[in-house]
Amino acid sequence: MTLKMAVPNKGRLNERAVELLTKSGLDLGESWGRKLYVAVKNKDIEIIFVRAQDIPVFVHSGAVDIGITGQDQIANADVDVEEIKKLEFGHCRLSVAVPEASGIKSVSDIPDGSRVATSFGTVAKKFFDSHGKKVDIIPVTGAAEIMPYMGVSDFIVDLVSSGSTLKTNRLIEIQTILESQAVIIANRDSLSRNQNDISNIVNAIGSVMNAEQKKYLMAVIPVEKIEEIQQIFPGLAGPTIMNIAGHPDKVAIHVVIGKNEIYDAVNDIKKLGGEGVLTLNIDGLVD
Ligand code: AMP
Repeated sequence: MTLKMAVPNKGRLNERAVELLTKSGLDLGESWGRKLYVAVKNKDIEIIFVRAQDIPVFVHSGAVDIGITGQDQIANADVDVEEIKKLEFGHCRLSVAVPEASGIKSVSDIPDGSRVATSFGTVAKKFFDSHGKKVDIIPVTGAAEIMPYMGVSDFIVDLVSSGSTLKTNRLIEIQTILESQAVIIANRDSLSRNQNDISNIVNAIGSVMNAEQKKYLMAVIPVEKIEEIQQIFPGLAGPTIMNIAGHPDKVAIHVVIGKNEIYDAVNDIKKLGGEGVLTLNIDGLVD
């Protein structure tokens, strides 16, 4: 059976989502960027490109089996889907922000009857209801941050990552409602029917994400330094050590290490008389 997967067609989540799929070995062909859907050439998978905000509903209804979208969109769609993997990108938070000049410091200071502009009406309503606040939701589809300036609303609920947009618009964040990142979600029925196919694709993406954090390091070291090298690289299964033809006094070591350990590793190897240090990217890593 063809597995159907929904992926954001544009916007902030599109590029990295497609990169993860192609790095996982799915062949989307040449012209996927212009298409609404693509039949993956080397697997029985169909990719449907749609807006990130529509993906939770498509997954919930079973129109697609799995999808990639933001946790903020899942919360706002208010549908029951299974989150099966965090993808460690698209980090942002949904926050309440008020004009600097309003003097409001916390949600409890917000007067009943205030107007809040947001494209996250469902989440915002739940949030203010739970705080016993009666606010009027003004639905907008974008640019919520200029609504207080235009007099359309008194404050906003919007996504923030660096906070620079808020600053430019003289708004202050007073409360985080939720934290979000991109995730893979699955339709619950489909997950029980197609567990194998779904875990294959999730594992392939996981292996790409793992590999991106690692480097493959090779070096030549004096044979008498093997023990010291083993102490430096106790990782995974320790270094692989290989003889070098014609050089009984030296060995080659191969090891997988964290990207941020490379700097110290290279210096340690040099101090032990190592040479020919080579570091390579890894395409995939299955634990
Ligand atoms: P799009 O509207 O298609 O660009 O997708 C927006 C999605 O990107 C949001 O729902 C979030 O999941 C994610 N995102 C990550 N950082 C931000 C940000 N700073 N502003 C807006 N959306 C963000």
